[in-house]
Amino acid sequence: MEYYDSHLHTLFSPDAPRDDGCTVDLLCQTALAQGLRGIAVTDHYELLEPGEDNPALCEYRFDPAAHAAQVAQAKARYGDRLHIANGIELSCPAFDPGAAKALCENGGFDFVILSCHRDRGMIDFYDYMQEPHTAAEIRWSWETYLTELAEHIRTGCGDTLAHLTYPLRYYTGAGKADLIDFDARYRDYLADLLRLLIDRDLPLEVNTSGLRDKMGVTLPDEKVLALYRDLGGSRITVGSDAHSRQHVGYKIRETYARLAALGFRAVTVFEARHPIEIPLEF
Ligand SMILES: [Zn+2]
Ligand SMILES: [Zn+2]
Repeated sequence: MEYYDSHLHTLFSPDAPRDDGCTVDLLCQTALAQGLRGIAVTDHYELLEPGEDNPALCEYRFDPAAHAAQVAQAKARYGDRLHIANGIELSCPAFDPGAAKALCENGGFDFVILSCHRDRGMIDFYDYMQEPHTAAEIRWSWETYLTELAEHIRTGCGDTLAHLTYPLRYYTGAGKADLIDFDARYRDYLADLLRLLIDRDLPLEVNTSGLRDKMGVTLPDEKVLALYRDLGGSRITVGSDAHSRQHVGYKIRETYARLAALGFRAVTVFEARHPIEIPLEF
């Protein structure tokens, strides 16, 4: 069985700890030491609405040419042993679809992860939940997240949808996750989103980062994955979302095994924006 970690950050992402010093080269060395067959280097790139003033978010943008150069160097050095994709975690493309499309089409990427870390005009869910909010406000932020995700997906930017249910991590951290009752209120919302992915043949990412925090489950969790499967979804990418070397490949093997147990037959990885199916053989 070949294992791929398709969601990884390096020092090109400002939230990667500086003291860990995880360059693209060190990331590749770590992946090889972990016995991985392939990785995708997917640093953050946040889109802002035109005219939006948000200097903190502007830091979450790397120079695509510099990124590509480091990945090309790593491919030359490790490419015979490690499949390396030059990726990007592109957040909120619907906020600036023109810029998002230009990056997707001209950025020279092998793999584009579509993600969403905030609602329109708002701050990251992490920052949002640092302040107290009423139950109504939290539900509003969740419902807006789900609605706007559909907009982001419809831009056509991205090869997979990253960490679906992302806000739940921060609701959980604040002890408010009970407000989001999946069965009573949100199954239909999520089913609509999952159908949209299936209709567009866009894979769903299983992000293992939730397994190392208070949530204790992947994003999305197995309940959502079972719903995706039942709706006919079959295409999955898997990533650790590591921001430091210690988390590279985090629970990737266990997650592949769980996916096989849930009835998924393959994991998808990307090369030059083209999907390759890696059969789950257990
Ligand atoms: Zn993310
Ligand atoms: Zn990420």
